[in-house]
Amino acid sequence: MSNSEVRYPMVELDLKKFRNNIDQAVFRCGKLGIGLAGVIKGFTGIPEGAKQFAEAGCDYIASSRLEQIQGCIDYGIKASYMLIRVPMLSEIEEAVRITDISLNSEVEVLKALNKEALKQGKVHKVVIMIDLGDLREGFWDKKEFLDAALMVENECDGLYLAGVGTNLGCYGSILATPEKMNELIADAEMVEKAIGRTLDIISGGATTSFPMVLNNTMPKRINNLRMGEGIILAKDLKDLLGLDMSFMYQDAFTLKAQIIELKDKPSYPVGQLSFDAFGNIGTYEDRGIRKRALLGMGKVDIAYPDMIYPRDKGIEVIGSSSDHLILDVEDAEREFKVGDIVEFDLCYATNVFVTNSPNVRIVCK
Ligand SMILES: *Cc1c(COP(=O)(O)O)cnc(C)c1O
Repeated sequence: MSNSEVRYPMVELDLKKFRNNIDQAVFRCGKLGIGLAGVIKGFTGIPEGAKQFAEAGCDYIASSRLEQIQGCIDYGIKASYMLIRVPMLSEIEEAVRITDISLNSEVEVLKALNKEALKQGKVHKVVIMIDLGDLREGFWDKKEFLDAALMVENECDGLYLAGVGTNLGCYGSILATPEKMNELIADAEMVEKAIGRTLDIISGGATTSFPMVLNNTMPKRINNLRMGEGIILAKDLKDLLGLDMSFMYQDAFTLKAQIIELKDKPSYPVGQLSFDAFGNIGTYEDRGIRKRALLGMGKVDIAYPDMIYPRDKGIEVIGSSSDHLILDVEDAEREFKVGDIVEFDLCYATNVFVTNSPNVRIVCK
């Protein structure tokens, strides 16, 4: 997947910075008895990055996409693999073959996993998900949740009920709080009472649950988190929740693109305004003649041009089309010339897109 050819656009992963972020998360969670599933989907499973998760002592390498897990296996990474999206019925065979554990919320899928595991002579571990209000995956009805857990425990020889979990802050924007964690623990204890043993895993969510680790409010029995963004970029907790994330690098990933044109031009389009390349009518501010840089990178690569952040001071992204990005560099501190490389910070959305784009070179250093 990665190569060292110097071609642009390029996304560069600094493995040392990345490793620092993983080590910090593993250490801070470890102090509270919380193991980590290192989630690789936020960087499209770049194996060099995934390897760092394994070497840093994450309990699992996790993804929503089986292709990414297969990529890690092909790269030779020895780890326990966790599928964190409920398996599709069409991928049961592969899910059982290449992963050790999956998150689940459908009885029909659990039955299919059981059947396939028996066929492959394996015991596949499952975590039963409960929806605590974010309204994405998970059982909503507590009785159905309990019945599914009991079914796995008592009727599925191909499955092992490893634990229970929840997901927050993904669809419903619901904050992960100690109250939500206590509700999850109560649900877990309901299952434990019914099956007569303790569960191995109570998985308290994703990056959005990490603040409870940092401010020491995580209820005791939560012993697993599935973290991606908070390690990859460590940006949302800092920018959206105002946490001090200075112990992690926000620039482990760098997007680089090349200047293909540099000219003074009017800032307001000249002629009759109609539609732009994507069928929208743009909004333009007339700031007179400005120095602009045109880059060889566009919406096809980054999807959200307003969600990449130039590292140079005094630069502004003013627009884009499918294959071009336009910067206002009039007030730039740096003197640019054609052929120069401009560097950007990324956010979760744009990190996902650039690492997924076949047009963007991935380089690990
Ligand atoms: C994506 C995902 C995660 C990781 O989310 P981050 O915000 O990247 O930490 C954890 N659990 C599930 C179920 C997910 O889909």
